[in-house]
Amino acid sequence: MNAAPARVTQAADWRLDFPALRQSVHGQPLVYLDSAASAQQPEVVIETVAAYQREDHANVHRGVHTLSHRATEAYEGARDKMRDFINASARSEIVLTKGTTEAINLVAQSFCRPRLQAGDNIVITHLEHHANIVPWQLVCEQTGAELRVAPINDRGEVSIDELYELVDERTLLVGISHVSNALGTVNPVEEVVAFCKGRNVPVLIDGAQGVPHLDIDVQAIGCDFYAFSGHKMFGPTGTGVLFGREALLEEMPPWQGGGDMILEVSFENTIYNELPYKFEAGTPNISGVVGLGASVDYLQRIGMQRIADYEHELHDYMVSQLRDVDGMRFIGEAANKASVQSFLLDDIHSHDLGTILDHQGVAIRTGHHCAMPVMQWFGVSGTCRASLAFYNNRDDIDRLVIALEKAREIFG
Ligand code: PLP
Repeated sequence: MNAAPARVTQAADWRLDFPALRQSVHGQPLVYLDSAASAQQPEVVIETVAAYQREDHANVHRGVHTLSHRATEAYEGARDKMRDFINASARSEIVLTKGTTEAINLVAQSFCRPRLQAGDNIVITHLEHHANIVPWQLVCEQTGAELRVAPINDRGEVSIDELYELVDERTLLVGISHVSNALGTVNPVEEVVAFCKGRNVPVLIDGAQGVPHLDIDVQAIGCDFYAFSGHKMFGPTGTGVLFGREALLEEMPPWQGGGDMILEVSFENTIYNELPYKFEAGTPNISGVVGLGASVDYLQRIGMQRIADYEHELHDYMVSQLRDVDGMRFIGEAANKASVQSFLLDDIHSHDLGTILDHQGVAIRTGHHCAMPVMQWFGVSGTCRASLAFYNNRDDIDRLVIALEKAREIFG
């Protein structure tokens, strides 16, 4: 027997860990192909959060009592797991946030805003999620700086040479996604970082769609900032991480003020806390972060390289099967892709198609995927997007294809 069927069998086992995948929707076993929007959580994450809530919950950092110690240990333990997961060099480089969006806003306001002057620029690409566009627009409006956008080609790949041409001596930062949520394009981030390093330009990577599917090593990538969300990596919503190089984080002022981000407060003078607490004002999402720690343990038990290999094979299968559906138009055909395929079928509106599929138990995402500039570039108002995780298998893809064929019959 060759390796492929063995891996598929393995996925069937992983799938059993996810209670949400055991249900039926509209009388059909659920096929969940919307993990790029939010991934399902394994039992161990759900149970870890529940056990924490039942037995260990208290506020972190400030208490002398036993529960506060336990909560702090669990919360800070999760930070250590995050450090290990992305191979940051120190726990001080792991700032816990609400998610990718908050992490990018933090960099825009704390790193860029004090440094940017009229005439400076920030460079991003045309395939970014709104979370990696609007924070830069805001800070450019606030400072008179310019936002420059590297174009994409017909396949949905960033024109890297044109990106490099946009970087000059007035560039403060380059922001680029690791993997596009709308198109699945994997950007050559190592190459971009190497180019920018040569010019002393820091790079922020939006890793929201990178972390769930690839083995991430921020030191090997060499980036200055890497942002990601817990709920896309099988953890709770309202959690996420900003990795920042310690030297840069040290120089940055706090973004939000409040409890926990200070060492001493008086009306005359406030002394800020050390890293990473300087950037974590107020009571955090403790239970969520504890759950995120459990999701990291879970993913590491399987192995990110194993997940990446399995998903790569499944993605190839999805693309080959969808390509054979009559009336299929792919949006996004980059040479290097992960997890996602966007498409349109005949002239059926994406929302109508999504609804028909839902009635057959197949969950996909439809619309602009928070990437309106991508839609504008392809001249469409939205797409249908099937996105994979390691709990999907070939049966899911076959069910998607059957549902699409049924939709074609319905729409004539
Ligand atoms: N960046 C990308 C590429 C995404 O896919 C998403 C979410 O879909 C985000 C950023 C924003 O993530 P969050 O809403 O969890 O902050």
